[in-house]
Amino acid sequence: MLPFKLIYSDGYYLPIGAHVFPAEKYRLIHRHLLDTGIAEPGDFMTPQPACDDDIRLVHTREYVQKLKTCTLSAMEELQMEVPYSPELVKAFWLAAGGSILAADLALRSGMAFNIGGGFHHAFPDHGEGFCVVHDVAVAIKRMHQEGKITRAMTVDLDVHNGNGTAAIFPPKKKPGSLPSAGGIRHDLRGNGRDLDMLGASDGELEVFTISLHQAHNYPVYKPPSSIDVHLPDATNDEEYLGWLDQALSSAFRNFEPELLCYMAGADPYKEDQLGGLALTIEGLKRRDELVMKVAKARGVPVMVTFAGGYARKVEDTVTIHCNTVVAAKELA
Ligand SMILES: [Zn+2]
Repeated sequence: MLPFKLIYSDGYYLPIGAHVFPAEKYRLIHRHLLDTGIAEPGDFMTPQPACDDDIRLVHTREYVQKLKTCTLSAMEELQMEVPYSPELVKAFWLAAGGSILAADLALRSGMAFNIGGGFHHAFPDHGEGFCVVHDVAVAIKRMHQEGKITRAMTVDLDVHNGNGTAAIFPPKKKPGSLPSAGGIRHDLRGNGRDLDMLGASDGELEVFTISLHQAHNYPVYKPPSSIDVHLPDATNDEEYLGWLDQALSSAFRNFEPELLCYMAGADPYKEDQLGGLALTIEGLKRRDELVMKVAKARGVPVMVTFAGGYARKVEDTVTIHCNTVVAAKELA
């Protein structure tokens, strides 16, 4: 039995037909976790869909209405890059419910996984890049609404910049910027002294956002996160882990979260069809371990979502996601 819960439903499958997004990955991960003995049936919990009020904590009334009444414009549907259907909307409501449950369980027990979610390109008023609803933002807002947290940190290690997250939770202060070799910009927020150590906020929600992503990749416009690390093409394991270590150290110098929301994208993998970094499967597991070790050392609960993953062989995407569970199990 795992010392943490895995939130999963067959309903996570996205009805999008033949698509570069492997909608079947959630079922395959669930099956692989059981077949390999990484998890047992009793480790899983089934989520309830988020309610409309939960979704509206992040998304506009108009956008939610359009999604529920099939009235998106052709342009809005195109921008989502997944074909609209009422079933698709259901799957996203369920993913958001899964992230709410994962956040709640993480706060109670230190760690929980949503075997899905991480739809970090969704904006308050529109969907983008296969993301219709920002499940992680919904979970954070719901936990705040319930009075369970006032400070959350998102650690987005998908190969693509978390533009939706940054738009929903813009940094409170203008991000600082560190120049680096190769013309790649590494924005680090503050230097540990000029920032208010967040926490005296009268119950107001504070979200510190970290995004490590490939600079030359979607999305073209990357709104500022609290910390952005714009990585050059073909960044390898060692380089990536060095930047991640630095980003996490800087973040924790500036901010003490009550919940860390880890978006463990599988697409920094060297064989990814939509990524241009050069991480190995082993390197990605070390990445997971680093995030979890840092959180554990500081006693911060972690909720994990899976975000993207488009490896040429879907088995690799499944292995990378399952390894995140293995990393948590080994560190527990
Ligand atoms: Zn991605």
